Order: sequence, then C-alpha cells, then structure tokens
Amino acid sequence: MEAPLNPNMHTALERDEIPDRTKISIPVNNQPSFTPRKLRAIIIGAGYSSLTLVHKLRHQHPEMEDILTYKIFEARSDIGGTWLVNTYPGVQCDVPAHIYFYVGGPEIHDYIKRIVEKWNLDRDVQLNTKVVGTYWQEQQGSWKVVVEHNGVQREEYAEVLISGQGFLNLWKWPDIKGLESFKGKKVHSAKWDHSYDYSGKRIAVIGNGSSGIQILPQLAKLEGTDVTSFQRGPTWVISRMSAAKLLGRDDISPNPEYTEEDQRRFTEDPKYHNEYRKQLIHQHEVHTADGQAVEVDVIVCATGFDVSHCPHYPVIGRDQTSLAKKWADEPESYLSLACPQFPNYFIFTGPNAVVGHGSLVEGLGWVAEYMIKWIKKMATEDIKSVAPKQDVVDEFVTYGDEILKTLTWTGGCRSWYKKGRVDGRVTAAFAGSALLFKRFVSEIRGEDFEIQYRSPNRFKMMGNGFTEYELDDANDLAWYIEK
Ligand SMILES: Cc1cc2nc3c(=O)[nH]c(=O)nc-3n(C[C@H](O)[C@H](O)[C@H](O)COP(=O)(O)OP(=O)(O)OC[C@H]3O[C@@H](n4cnc5c(N)ncnc54)[C@H](O)[C@@H]3O)c2cc1C
Repeated sequence: MEAPLNPNMHTALERDEIPDRTKISIPVNNQPSFTPRKLRAIIIGAGYSSLTLVHKLRHQHPEMEDILTYKIFEARSDIGGTWLVNTYPGVQCDVPAHIYFYVGGPEIHDYIKRIVEKWNLDRDVQLNTKVVGTYWQEQQGSWKVVVEHNGVQREEYAEVLISGQGFLNLWKWPDIKGLESFKGKKVHSAKWDHSYDYSGKRIAVIGNGSSGIQILPQLAKLEGTDVTSFQRGPTWVISRMSAAKLLGRDDISPNPEYTEEDQRRFTEDPKYHNEYRKQLIHQHEVHTADGQAVEVDVIVCATGFDVSHCPHYPVIGRDQTSLAKKWADEPESYLSLACPQFPNYFIFTGPNAVVGHGSLVEGLGWVAEYMIKWIKKMATEDIKSVAPKQDVVDEFVTYGDEILKTLTWTGGCRSWYKKGRVDGRVTAAFAGSALLFKRFVSEIRGEDFEIQYRSPNRFKMMGNGFTEYELDDANDLAWYIEK
C-alpha cells in the first residue's frame, strides 16, 4: 500500500526526518499500520485436527489467504489419521455419535473424505511425506523441517510449525514377556490384518479398553471361534441416564436403536438435534455387572498406544532443547498447545488436552481458532517468535495438578490418562471442564508468552501512522463522532 494521506507528513518521510522518539531509531515503515507480512506454516499430519484448521483457514477466515501459505505433510498414503488406520472389526467411536460424526469407523472415514472433497481441503496436502526432524533457527525465526518422501529427504522452511500428528497414533505391542517368541498369529488393533481368517481359532483378546470392547463381540460372533478376554482391571462404562429417555421413550436400554422417526426428526429439525447432542455430553453414570449405577464425572480406559507425547523424531527448539528429552519424564505444556523453548510451535492435543470431557472435535476447532489468532498477530505486529514462558507453564501445571487431584482421573487405576501408570500425574486430560478450556483459548493471554520482534522497536507495526481504512477516500473518516 502506498503512503500517507497527509501531504506534509509525506514530505517528512521522503526527507527521512523521523523524530527520535525512542532509544533506538528505526526508519518509518512506509505502509499502513498493521499491514501483515506473509508467513509460512508447516502442518504435520492430515487427520481431523489439521483438516479442521485448513477448513477454517480457507473458508471461515478467507483473509488468511493473504497472510499465510502452508504445506501439510502426511506420512501415510491417504488422509484421515485415526480413521484411516483403525479398521479392526467393530471399530467405532466410543462417545455418543451425535457429539462426534458417525458411529462406525468406515462411516467416519467416509465422512472425512467427503468433507475434504467438498471443501477441497487436500489442496496443500503432500501424502507419503513423513516429517523426520524439526529444528528451530533462532536467527531466521523459522523452523527447518526435514521430510522424507520415497526414501529421499529434503528440507522445508516455515515460520510456524503446527503439530496435528495425533495423540493415539503410534501403536505399540504390549510389554508382555515372551510375546515376541509366540509362534501363532499376532495382530494389533491399529494394524488389523484383514487377509487372515480368524474363524475356527482360539483367540486371546488382551485389553478391555475402547478397542478391546469393540473387537471382542465381533470375533466371538465368527464361526467356531473360542475367545478369551484378558483384562488387567475392570472397565467402567458410564451413562448418567438412558439415551432413550433423552428421546422421550421409556426404554432403559443404555444403547437403544434410533427409530426411523428419530432419524427423520434429527434430519428435519436441527434445533432438536442440537439440543439432543448437548444432553449427551452430560452422561456420567457407571453401570456395574451387579446392576448398580453410580454417578461419576469421568471414564478412564486403557489403550494400546504410545501416550508419552514424546515425538519419535528430533524436535529441537531454542538453545538446542530436545522436546523428547524435555518431556521424557513428564510432558508439560501450555494449555496442551505450546511449550516453552519451542517458539512458533503449536500443537493439537498435546499434554493435558480436552480428551475426557465434552466433545473433542469441538475442542479441536477452538484450538484451530486460537492458532489463527496467533498467526494473525504475528503477521500484523511484526513478531518474530512467540513461546510460552517456563514459569507460567510451571505454575499452570502445579495448579492444574491440584485440581486434577479432586477429579476421578487421579483414581488408583492404571490408565493412559496417566501415561499408563497407576499413580503419578495426569498427563492426557485438561485440569478442568471443556467450557473452562474454551474460555481459556478464546483469547490470547499475551502476558503468558515471551514475544520477540523482528525489529528493535516493537511499534514498527504502527507503520506510517495511518490505518488502511483511511486510505480509501470512500470511507467515512469521522465515523466515531457520536450524535
Ligand atoms: C480406535 C480409536 C477410537 C477413537 N474414538 C474416539 C471417539 O469416540 N471420540 C473422540 O473424541 N476421539 C476418539 N478417538 C481419538 C481420535 O484420535 C481423535 O478423535 C481424532 O481423530 C484425532 O485426530 P488428529 O488429526 O488429531 O490425529 P490423527 O487422526 O491421529 O491424525 C494424525 C495424522 O498425523 C500423521 N502423522 C503423524 N506423525 C507424522 C509425521 N512425523 N509426519 C507426517 N505425518 C505424520 C498420521 O499419519 C495421521 O494421519 C479415537 C481414537 C482411536 C485410535
């Protein structure tokens, strides 16, 4: 944009007669205030988190096209993350489907594929391209990202690095002595072998978390199978009230069929559908085998994934800090989405995310909005880097741990919410409600961050002293005069 409206000031600028108002004098930036510079972002993974962000960037914040270019690197051969790879028999979401998408895994993956096509969300996705190392470059204020495609590595660069690599993504065999020397067939829920014929076999199902619960009845149904369930501890299934009661029926079944009439009403009456979804979030009743019902706040299930949050490739931040080393004992983040010493690095579902309360997918949308706020601020305020302060995160973790002690997640059972430990800190779930999290991320708390600017004077963002609005003669420059 070209220069100021005030002709006298224009002359002053040309003569470089800038008054020295600060200790460090910098030339006036001859652009309107808050003119954005173009930033680059690298987004790791093409699962639901990253695709949510891309949808917001492309369709809800079209102004971002002028502010941000981005590339999405996906290690696998297709988009969809969790719902691409988890194809075991019976795979489905384990929350009421109305606060997720659909029930069955294949339906969920189809839905993701459909929305990607409808909104052209894969425009910037590079498949079969794995991020194998990320390195912060202090001087440039950018990330060097090493990616591997077809066995060939190359370097990519971006000011902003976003992790959408998922928190239940890296599956692992259970730590059971002798498992590796078992001569029969071994299969993991996250890498199901569909070519093997399971019928007529004696099958051990180890684990009774969400996946184990879904697989077991499907295998038991097969011709001639003899299925044994090996359970480390009990699984608690919670339901505050019968789902049918929410629909106004007297059926006490915890999982009633939706009638054709229900389905018609959900389709035709969005308000009713929305009210129904809201009620489902509050189901919190545990049903025990002996028929008792106990109201609780939270459910905890074991899973077969690496839940350490530690990256499996070098993520090297400021002062050569390694994220894997920093998080080796306790993964501690700022609101699950950033970490001290890792500037311009934003994370979906990092440590202590909203994974156990409310709707996770709505939470991903809130985090995407938060990231966009930061990117806009960085672009328009000449910011080089932002990272949460270490003392802020220390206080946040200390206070959060105290809240968590009052919640069910700290109960004495082994759980992935506690990195698979019986005792110890809760590392997976946020220390509070989904609504509190939403409030926290709805605004940037700048005071929690260490911000570095590109110029020695942070007010370079003031540009030539005018707003872009004033440069358009058609605009009313006195709109703020009250009647
Ligand atoms: C069996 C199962 C059932 C679930 N059910 C529910 C449910 O009912 N409700 C709920 O809220 N949540 C559920 N979840 C959690 C689910 O993971 C999230 O809801 C959501 O799908 C996470 O999306 P995401 O994009 O964050 O991560 P993911 O879906 O895991 O996607 C991450 C992507 O990043 C890619 N990636 C990882 N590392 C790299 C790398 N180095 N380079 C390039 N790409 C990389 C992966 O290939 C993957 O495609 C379930 C998870 C599982 C495993």
